[in-house]
Amino acid sequence: MKKNGVYDMALEQLDATAKRIKLNPDIHRVLRHCEKELTVACPVVMNDGCIEVFEGYRVQHSSARGPCKGGIRFHQSVSVDEIKALAMWMTWKCAVVNIPFGGAKGGVQVDVTKLEKEEIRRLTRRFTVNIMPIIGPHHDIPAPDVNTNAETMGWIMDTVSMYQGATVLDIVTGKSTDLGGSAGRREATGRGVMLSTLELLKRWHIDPEKISIAVQGFGNVGSVSADLLHKEGCRIVGVSDVSGAYYNPNGLPIRRMLEHCQTTKHRTLDGFDAPGVSKIKNEELLELDVDVLVPAALEKQITNQNAEKIQAKAIVEGANGPTTPEAERILVKKGKVIVPDILANAGGVVVSYFEWVQSIQSFFWDIEAVNKNLKKVIVKSFADVWELSLRERLTMRDAATQIAVQRVAMAMEERGIFP
Ligand code: NAD
Repeated sequence: MKKNGVYDMALEQLDATAKRIKLNPDIHRVLRHCEKELTVACPVVMNDGCIEVFEGYRVQHSSARGPCKGGIRFHQSVSVDEIKALAMWMTWKCAVVNIPFGGAKGGVQVDVTKLEKEEIRRLTRRFTVNIMPIIGPHHDIPAPDVNTNAETMGWIMDTVSMYQGATVLDIVTGKSTDLGGSAGRREATGRGVMLSTLELLKRWHIDPEKISIAVQGFGNVGSVSADLLHKEGCRIVGVSDVSGAYYNPNGLPIRRMLEHCQTTKHRTLDGFDAPGVSKIKNEELLELDVDVLVPAALEKQITNQNAEKIQAKAIVEGANGPTTPEAERILVKKGKVIVPDILANAGGVVVSYFEWVQSIQSFFWDIEAVNKNLKKVIVKSFADVWELSLRERLTMRDAATQIAVQRVAMAMEERGIFP
């Protein structure tokens, strides 16, 4: 039973691409399904002694091009439908940047703001054990996503290692550098958003110092994107998180905002104040008169309800699936350019790939090598997508999905269907 229809959104994008490129109908039929879906119940002894049960999922969409790869999110709105969509998008993302992974995603339906750290740790360990039968360094490698981070990945790595009787570094990516994580992984998704934005501005012959940006979400992706774009000289006029939206037409003090988050219980901007900063509604942030809008929170934020009111000339999708297909049609008609999630936020999985390679080799790169290689991949992938979109008069999402589906289909054709 579909809960919020995000998988429908992913299917609509696949179906449109399949039709346009005349995809082999057999391959298309296979790609409409996820290879594996696991639902698990995670009982956790809470600090007050009672037992709560949290439902979790791990979904693998396609392993045609390599082991499955995708984050784990902890959020109250998680559903199997959402996780399936995110797994399919991971397949396309890994293919569009041409790294040898398939797509997966995981999540637990939980409001982490209601749990203490020890309870989250017990939940993480129980969820890890429940999904252990299908994850593994050569099968499916999780990573951080909404409300999970390097600490969560450390707990997952430790749990699997306890069962194996040996430390298994390559079971997850996004670990801290003390535990075999890659330099630059925490910032990688935001860095990819920054690089994608600069590539777009280059093609528009616009100086970064002349543009204004609004960023929705101030977690891992949003805060790093805002910080790096700010360092490139862009004026960040609006940012938001669950605590509200903050606006200054002359530019926000991003560094101070980052420092403020370190002082609040749930690392939010709650209570932030500075001269010239006003509080606006979260919905208003999306509608600000800016050059670039970076949605970096959750899916389905730009819908047919607000698309007409979006003033930004470009939308660079830091989040996965922030724009619904109906909204995209409205925006495209208005001449807006959308740099799609599977390209714009691929920096995270690219450096996750570097981390996996480093863990396997037990040979670690310095930050310069990580960032140089990440830039190479994003700049090349952006160029591939941009050129195809110009050549075949496609939106950037259609071009990116086309490149990805063709690469996955090619792998499937070459492998053949088992048995
Ligand atoms: P996060 O938990 O670190 O941050 C999420 C942020 O969104 C928080 O600041 C939260 O307060 C804010 N938020 C939630 N609901 C909001 C709302 N209605 N309005 C405004 N802000 C809201 O998560 P993250 O890792 O930064 O992930 C954000 C998005 O980026 C997700 O779609 C995720 O799937 C995607 N993504 C993450 C990574 C990664 O490496 N972490 C990689 C690729 C894509």
